[in-house]
Amino acid sequence: MPHESISVFDMFKIGIGPSSSHTLGPWRAAQRFIASLQQQQDLSQLTYVSVLLYGSLAKTGKGHGTDIAIQLGLAGEDPVTFDVGAIVPAIESISRDKKLIINGQKAIDFDPDIDISFLYTESLPFHPNAMTFMATFHDGQQLAETWYSIGGGFVRREGEEPGGNASVQLPFPINTADELLHWCRKTGMSIHEVVMENESAWRPEKDTRKGVLDIWRVMRECIYRGCHSEGMLPGGLNVKRRASALSKKLIGGRPYENFDTWVAAIRAGGHDFKYILDWVSCFALAVNEENASFGRVVTAPTNGAAGVIPAVLLYYVIFCDGLDEEKILQFVLTASEIGSIFKKGATISAAMGGCQAEIGVSSAMAAAALTESVGGSQRQAMMAAEIAMEHHLGLTCDPIGGLVQIPCIERNTMGAIKAITASQLALQSTPDFAKVSLDAVISTMWSTAQDMNSKYKETSDGGLAMQIPLGLKEC
Ligand code: SF4
Repeated sequence: MPHESISVFDMFKIGIGPSSSHTLGPWRAAQRFIASLQQQQDLSQLTYVSVLLYGSLAKTGKGHGTDIAIQLGLAGEDPVTFDVGAIVPAIESISRDKKLIINGQKAIDFDPDIDISFLYTESLPFHPNAMTFMATFHDGQQLAETWYSIGGGFVRREGEEPGGNASVQLPFPINTADELLHWCRKTGMSIHEVVMENESAWRPEKDTRKGVLDIWRVMRECIYRGCHSEGMLPGGLNVKRRASALSKKLIGGRPYENFDTWVAAIRAGGHDFKYILDWVSCFALAVNEENASFGRVVTAPTNGAAGVIPAVLLYYVIFCDGLDEEKILQFVLTASEIGSIFKKGATISAAMGGCQAEIGVSSAMAAAALTESVGGSQRQAMMAAEIAMEHHLGLTCDPIGGLVQIPCIERNTMGAIKAITASQLALQSTPDFAKVSLDAVISTMWSTAQDMNSKYKETSDGGLAMQIPLGLKEC
């Protein structure tokens, strides 16, 4: 089997909520469609663009902001740098003026209500998250491309071969957990050291370090912002933000003025079990409330599950003495490798595998990273990832109203706590006696995904989405 090359910066992407597959992916696909048009035609001759959304993108695209992401992508904006406060004015302006400035260069008539079609009853066979872009030029020429958002912000054009950046030859090619362990044994290196060697095939080590610390910066800013933002989440479900009130209660009046002094104030509160448990939940709630508000988050490895890894990482930083850039770097590198093994062996797309592919994978990534970071062996790290996924197998995706709010926000707290429990279990165990390997659980997850009814794969056609009428439940 050919080895797919996936970098830490594929698994962790700085972007905008609420969904990696339904917001970030379509945004990226729109950008790449425009880039493709520019290679084939003179953009100044463009007269018309329209978009068709199929399958899961049609069914839950409104709640996930797919239409918004596509308009911003067509406009040439970048999700990494675009000011999240400018989203609403930009979209209102397009709706009001019925004009879209393609790639910031060419204004065309565009009415999102007409030119973006949600085809609720149509699906394309390759993947449930499909979209077709169509462009017309002055001379009558028409160009169309179909793109798939395949999970975690990854996109693929119809006909494009998989394989990540195939031109990059990694010193330690890895598709499976067994292969990762093989390289660790053969070289005597830890997981994060093997990953860093591979990353150096893409770029100098100093750039990888800088990029990972940038990811950590966005994660901690997101937690801090989420812990200091009140009000209701957008979308009509009337979900009240809870992280801010919880944070205020837990901090108990201890003074602080920025992230660093806030962390010190949290640490000063002690190590009581319930206190730590509440903080881990609070960190996860904060990220996912930001995510649901179209805030800036790190896709890790998806947006719906964006709170799990930052919550466990901040737990490690505050309560396990992990406040050290080197330790944070190691944590992120190890987590990314576990995520990429899941992507290669199964999926990180809820539209393909349900929530086990999102919360389950993020929990497994966090469990392995935490285990190695606190001194566990590589086999214990694999065991922790296996335990975390084993207890997410079969988890369905059924977001109410197609919004990444219920059950998604609380589910991140569960993923984080399960990761810590899985790590503790692995640290207290001997991997020699483990009955299920990480590769076996990945294979099981994939077969479970294939057996899972499509109602439970990010369609909002089953589960909670059918039980709780939109707008009636507050929490
Ligand atoms: S239910 Fe899980 S997989 Fe589905 S949108 Fe929510 S977090 Fe993502």
